[in-house]
Amino acid sequence: MTENEQPQPSAEKKGNKALVITLVCVGVGCFLVVPCIAIMAALVIPSLAGARDNALKAGCAAHLRQIGMACQQYSADFNIYPDRLETLVERDYLSNSGDTTCPAARTKGRADASYAWTPERIDRSTASRTPLARCPVDSHADGGVNVLQVDGSVNYGRPGDPDYQRAIETIP
Ligand SMILES: [Zn+2]
Repeated sequence: MTENEQPQPSAEKKGNKALVITLVCVGVGCFLVVPCIAIMAALVIPSLAGARDNALKAGCAAHLRQIGMACQQYSADFNIYPDRLETLVERDYLSNSGDTTCPAARTKGRADASYAWTPERIDRSTASRTPLARCPVDSHADGGVNVLQVDGSVNYGRPGDPDYQRAIETIP
């Protein structure tokens, strides 16, 4: 070996150095990528859950509107509203029995997924803003209920809203 020649690292040392560099790169990559994925998941998952809740509310309101239309036909024929929700299905005013259940309650696998029905005897002289049916309590994610009024309109009320309170009080 002359004075200008540097000692060369062995092949084993070169391999170890490459391995260390690779591990450092992978480690740094993980530190960058994992938090990015976590942040994206934190942003996307709640919005997906929110979209799902909104879809369940809209599907639920569509069921109650169907029930409202069936009630209008029933009351036109009998001058009184049915005393039970099932009457509409039994007498063929409501063709799809699935419309008698809240989709949000059904998604939760609840046995009481059927809409709660008014205990009042309602006829065509009853005030139009009288609740006829509502979702089972605690079906929707925010604890609210869709309410079908005698005039066939459907509105969503959260706990504390006047429509929610009236529906819970008149349909226990
Ligand atoms: Zn519902």
